[in-house]
Amino acid sequence: MRKKNRISFSAVSIDPKRENRSEDKMPEKKKQSKSSTYQYSKFGKKRPVGRQRRPGIEILPKKQTVKVPEIEEGVLRVIPLGGVEQVGQNMTVLEYNNDIIVIDAGIEFSSEDMPGVDFIIPNTKYLEERKEKIRGIFITHGHLDHIGAIPYLIEKLGNPPIYSREFGAIMIQKRNEEFPHLPKLKMNIVHNDDVIRAGKSFVIRSFAISHTIPDSMGLLIETPLGEVAFIEDVRVDNVNGIVEQEEIEQYARFKNRDILLLTMDSTSVEKQGFSLSEQTIAKNIEKIIREVPGRIIIATFASQVERIVTIINFAERYGKKVVIEGRSMKTNVEIAKQLGLIKNKNIIPLEEMDEYPPNKIMMIVTGSQGEEFAALNRIANGTHRQVKLGPSDTVLLSSSIIPDNVRNISKLKDLLYRTNAKIITYLDSDVHASGHGNRGELRWIHQQIKYRFFIPVHGRHYMLKQHAELSQSLGTSRQNIMVPDNGSIIEIYDGGKKIRMRKEKAPCEIVTVDGFAIGDALAVVIKDRQMLSEDGMFVIIALIDQKTGKLKKSPDLISRGFVYLKENQELLRQVRIIIKKSVEEVSTKIHPIDFDYIKNNIGETVSKFLYQKTAKRPLVIPVVLSA
Ligand SMILES: [Zn+2]
Ligand SMILES: [Zn+2]
Repeated sequence: MRKKNRISFSAVSIDPKRENRSEDKMPEKKKQSKSSTYQYSKFGKKRPVGRQRRPGIEILPKKQTVKVPEIEEGVLRVIPLGGVEQVGQNMTVLEYNNDIIVIDAGIEFSSEDMPGVDFIIPNTKYLEERKEKIRGIFITHGHLDHIGAIPYLIEKLGNPPIYSREFGAIMIQKRNEEFPHLPKLKMNIVHNDDVIRAGKSFVIRSFAISHTIPDSMGLLIETPLGEVAFIEDVRVDNVNGIVEQEEIEQYARFKNRDILLLTMDSTSVEKQGFSLSEQTIAKNIEKIIREVPGRIIIATFASQVERIVTIINFAERYGKKVVIEGRSMKTNVEIAKQLGLIKNKNIIPLEEMDEYPPNKIMMIVTGSQGEEFAALNRIANGTHRQVKLGPSDTVLLSSSIIPDNVRNISKLKDLLYRTNAKIITYLDSDVHASGHGNRGELRWIHQQIKYRFFIPVHGRHYMLKQHAELSQSLGTSRQNIMVPDNGSIIEIYDGGKKIRMRKEKAPCEIVTVDGFAIGDALAVVIKDRQMLSEDGMFVIIALIDQKTGKLKKSPDLISRGFVYLKENQELLRQVRIIIKKSVEEVSTKIHPIDFDYIKNNIGETVSKFLYQKTAKRPLVIPVVLSA
């Protein structure tokens, strides 16, 4: 509560830098904070920002007060810059002496508590300050929560080499084509037995792991203190809880190894047992494809590349033509084709669909989460230019419900059922499993690896804590497990015998991508959007006589999204009286006339009054003009 805004004519836009510079002339108790807008809270102070539904994440940029000390000799630093307070935005830093390697660079899709924001990317200030030390970015797999931030970060990090297996590499390159201003990526394709030397401190090997997208890999990183097994998204192929031979062979490499540190995906730790095997799911989907009498429309996540490949191959087996709808789906199928995973004989463009009888058509579409502009939603609400659903169609939702999307999916299902098509979801038949191993699978992986320290990653805080408990139940001592937040600096020291979390944190203010704008200052904008979206805005334009300090005319009042002004004339009349009083009160007390002070006073009293009268807290924007 120490800043005030000196922009007296238009208080509409807020520039935090400018606020910082303005010296303060106002009496102590009237000082304003952050913004020049007002919102009355019954608790007597400004209402907290937004609905605060993102635990651990401050919407307003925090100042980095503690400077992070440089790394000491013989210490291995592990810093998750993202992905440990959410599912998404994954990025972890490993640092030793003069070398840094980065693992993954993902985005998190924004939710409704950040209106207008496209997505969130990791805060890389720590890396930017040490970019000459970065030896490479290692990509575990091609999902957007692991690669999506590359175009926004790569230049800031000095365009270091990227190491990825082939599928991920093509995904990254494809995405990068949308950013033609960027320098050419230094892409390196990682093969099975490659040994990659990164500076003097790290030697990296990779191994195949099961997930939902081809070419997912775990990393085995040799450091001067010992080996780090870095596992991000992972599941364990199994049939009814019996682990497949292939998995056993993959993890056999850990048999006689002492691993210094293990990290692992925590997303589905809450789900007991083993997840359904992808083979069971494939069998069920095949049965449905074989038996449906008419056209079949299958919606799934575009990220489920392996399943999509399987489904397309089934279509061939049953003599069906495949139409792919949805941009991300098309891109991923295109890459699978490029890698020879699919023969494209039976894929046809949408325009040719009508040349075949409906029972010879299979569509694979995006939008299983009810996303507004995705293909399935357009098909369901009748706005798709070529596909109209009817009773002879079958829609298969081969996906689960992501909790944030419950409402959208219900809406989508309403629309689908209105078309009278037949609908099959994972509740009717086993047609979906997640790519993240359940607790049973995670436990199995823990049991294959002999490790000293454990850091759970890839998940919200509660998931990480549950994963930490799992590790502890398997014999890891509590002080050998670190549950990080974004920006936590974990250090392994004393020749690899000890682990600690520093009290300083790497900068971790959230960084948003909003159209073309990237940055953490956007937090202020988002805060206003949240306030606007809840109770609207109320603008007061007051013209004040420079000499007398009195209103020259009745103030103009404008509102949007608050109350319908035409039906609230009495309220407006009272507001005008209050403004008049407020102005006169101030200008009789303070000489010379302080327009900022008048503005602040109007803002606060009107805000309070509107709340008393309407139980709403619109964003109040006072504009004071002098004449
Ligand atoms: Zn993934
Ligand atoms: Zn992931």
